[in-house]
Amino acid sequence: MGDTSYSESADQADEYARAALTLMRAKGVVANPNNFAVWYCHFSGKRPELSQTLQILLDNGQNFTPERSDELFRRFFTVEEENKNLFETAGQIENEISKILTTLDLAGDGAARYGRTLSDASRSIGGAGAEDLQGMIVKVIKETRGMERLNKALENQLEKSSGEIVQLKDDLEEMRREAMTDSLTGLANRKRFDLELRRAAMTAMEDGAPLCLLMVDIDHFKRFNDTYGHQVGDQVLKLLGATLKASVRADDMAARYGGEEFAIILPQTKIDEAKKVAEEIRHKISAKNLINRQTKEDMGKITVSMGIAQFAYGESLGVLIKRADQALYMAKRTGRDRSLSERDLDDKALSFDH
Ligand code: GH3
Ligand code: MG
Ligand code: MG
Repeated sequence: MGDTSYSESADQADEYARAALTLMRAKGVVANPNNFAVWYCHFSGKRPELSQTLQILLDNGQNFTPERSDELFRRFFTVEEENKNLFETAGQIENEISKILTTLDLAGDGAARYGRTLSDASRSIGGAGAEDLQGMIVKVIKETRGMERLNKALENQLEKSSGEIVQLKDDLEEMRREAMTDSLTGLANRKRFDLELRRAAMTAMEDGAPLCLLMVDIDHFKRFNDTYGHQVGDQVLKLLGATLKASVRADDMAARYGGEEFAIILPQTKIDEAKKVAEEIRHKISAKNLINRQTKEDMGKITVSMGIAQFAYGESLGVLIKRADQALYMAKRTGRDRSLSERDLDDKALSFDH
């Protein structure tokens, strides 16, 4: 969430507001409260990472489409979708804690009553007859038992609540993992890829760092499936997934983009380095001889084709993906088992619509 304390003077605020509105008008950004928040914040200089991102977009002459404006607002002023679940679980945890507090309250009441009984007893001990004394002792013992029961109940409730909190936390982690993971390969799924790419693009703009995207598609996989069966095909997908995962750094992310297509996000990576990564992966895959474990049948090799594109600050992610796809398509067209980058596309193919 953003810094919501506004420490500027009225005059300063006025100045930021005017500057924001002027620039928004010039850029065709609708002056709704969300967009205003973004641009006001930019001029106030309160959030360097926001200003840095906007500056890069401005320097690159990017259009501030409603979608981009919306993305900026969401990035810097809202809690992300994926955090919603967290809040729900936090609510449940709060419930558990309020149960504990209620029990503590009860215990507190019990202790106060117990205290009163004891002090009544001690006050009336002086000059009391043996019968009175006996009556008092019975009463104190009764109250003591009552206290014991309350404490026991408190202990049980605490134990139950803390067990439930631990369970909720585990459930939440499991839920998040499953929702973001491809069940066959164990790689990140498309949903996680989309989130991660958006995050990586924003980070790249904030840091002024390069970012590359690699699209990987198995060659003639339909033929492979037709020859060896879909289940064997699935095993190949698993193997490929594991190979990709093992071939990238911790900060990179390999994902299953769709059917037999994979994508790799390479932060802090220029196109030449991305090309090296691609070639390493390609060699690794084509070097493997596939043997059917059950039948011992030699199924030969599979190969992959790859397309590489580097993120141009401010472009929409759809455009980035499309460029990587076009490079991939060219790799297919020019013979497969190769990686090509956007640089290999001819000038004609390089004119994309923004
Ligand atoms: P190309 O070299 O042009 O990519 O040829 P291709 O046959 O790989 O491409 P095409 O798009 O024609 O077919 C993709 C095939 O991938 C079709 C389908 O049988 C296979 N495939 C997609 N998803 C899965 C999957 O989850 N499991 C298996 N076993 N096969 C899949
Ligand atoms: Mg395909
Ligand atoms: Mg294919």
